[in-house]
Amino acid sequence: MPHDHSDHPHSLLPPDPALRVKALETLLTRKGLVDPAALDVIIDTYENKIGPRNGARVVAKAWRDPAFRQALLEDATPVVADLGYYGRQGEHVVVVENTAQTHNMVVCTLCSCYPWPLLGIPPAWYKSDAYRARAVREPRKVLQDFGVTLAENTAVRVWDSTAEVRYLVLPERPAGTEGLDEAELMALVTRDSMIGTGFPRTPDQAAP
Ligand code: FE
Repeated sequence: MPHDHSDHPHSLLPPDPALRVKALETLLTRKGLVDPAALDVIIDTYENKIGPRNGARVVAKAWRDPAFRQALLEDATPVVADLGYYGRQGEHVVVVENTAQTHNMVVCTLCSCYPWPLLGIPPAWYKSDAYRARAVREPRKVLQDFGVTLAENTAVRVWDSTAEVRYLVLPERPAGTEGLDEAELMALVTRDSMIGTGFPRTPDQAAP
């Protein structure tokens, strides 16, 4: 599939998209075309309700259930849709698994494609020019900046998102988590670990 972003409105935005969006919102509201309350609901949904929690649930399930994990790696889209995770920017999801041999990380070199239904709205750094350029050119250095140091014989594989395909990294399950239930495992799964720029927490780092 070509990396065709021509249908992405955000690729046409000037360097200060926040300002531009605010201006549009003000204009549309003034003309009675949009209801600011409705916009707030959409933003709140992606920022807080979805956030990275849905992705964390998918990861926790995959850690606990080998059949679920297998199905996820084979064709993630229907598997996550069954959990109710589908829609905008989630039409075709591919899950890539980290192992001792391979570490995966995700970027969108042209803009900011991201699996919204699983991870919510992308963080600012994901959309930055620096990350988009450097993730491909010097992935190991970028990972070091994120505090991710890999064994020398672990290969880094960088996945460039497209308008058609969104990636989710399935991180390695931390040691010492054998007895944990799904909710406890979810608490270990960070957003960055599902982008490939972080590791999951270990049980002693778990958020309270
Ligand atoms: Fe993109």
